[in-house]
Amino acid sequence: MKTLHVGGLRVDRVVESEGAFAPVDFILPGVDMARVEAQSEWIRPRYLSDDNRLMMSFHSYVLSTPHHRILIDTCVGNDKPRPARPSWHEQQSPYLETLARAGYAPEDIDFVCCTHLHADHVGWNTQLKDGRWVPTFPKARYVFAQTEYTHWERAHREALARGEPAPNHGSFADSVLPVMEAGQADLVREDFEFEEGVYLRSALGHTAGTCCLHANSQGQSAIFTGDILHTPVQLLDLSWSSRFCDDPAQAASTRQALVNAVADTSTVLLAGHFPTPTAGRVVSHQEGFAWKDVG
Ligand SMILES: [Zn+2]
Repeated sequence: MKTLHVGGLRVDRVVESEGAFAPVDFILPGVDMARVEAQSEWIRPRYLSDDNRLMMSFHSYVLSTPHHRILIDTCVGNDKPRPARPSWHEQQSPYLETLARAGYAPEDIDFVCCTHLHADHVGWNTQLKDGRWVPTFPKARYVFAQTEYTHWERAHREALARGEPAPNHGSFADSVLPVMEAGQADLVREDFEFEEGVYLRSALGHTAGTCCLHANSQGQSAIFTGDILHTPVQLLDLSWSSRFCDDPAQAASTRQALVNAVADTSTVLLAGHFPTPTAGRVVSHQEGFAWKDVG
């Protein structure tokens, strides 16, 4: 994705990793492959590999306004112990160099916004320095939805009390709590406003407190959708929630509402895992919807 302009706002994408990730019927347990094959002319190979793995990207966005630089979702991170997912385990990626190439140093970031607190959206919140997890972005306020934070704080605490492995690959302990302890976290309502035209909206179902970030300027609009949609393949049937959705039925109705609101409009969606070129719009297509790249 090239730098995208939304009115007077600028959006850059910072990629941590990208490629064929996992089988589509693992990520989307309800997928109907016959319907996917029927639409293969726009699905393959960009969104689905020959061996039926979803093409996915792990990336952040930097939303730059005249007033703030907002880093949205922070990928998997380096050095994080994730033994249950080998490709993430103690990963070493040049993420900060990629961020620098987009024009941003860690101290340039005013806000870090996690759409939700899954391990692949909080990783670069912290980095390992002298054996401790410390906030990567020294001047940033980290914005977490209160509902989302409360959910994971309780899940983390209860797992520890039962002697069970920490939920969510242990990411609450190494990527969220250190930010809290450093005094850089703000627990906010799900309609938090960063500035005029740039605000959160609740988008429940994937997790207890998932939010989307809406950005509007000069009559143009974009929505950073986190994991409301994991792949354009879900546009074939909006009921195909991912196996990572806490409440698949709620996630499906949130997805339906989002898609119905933006289909065939100029609103650009910036999803958490869509592969390059990533930015796009939802368009009506035969009996359902399809994806149209932007830029
Ligand atoms: Zn994700």
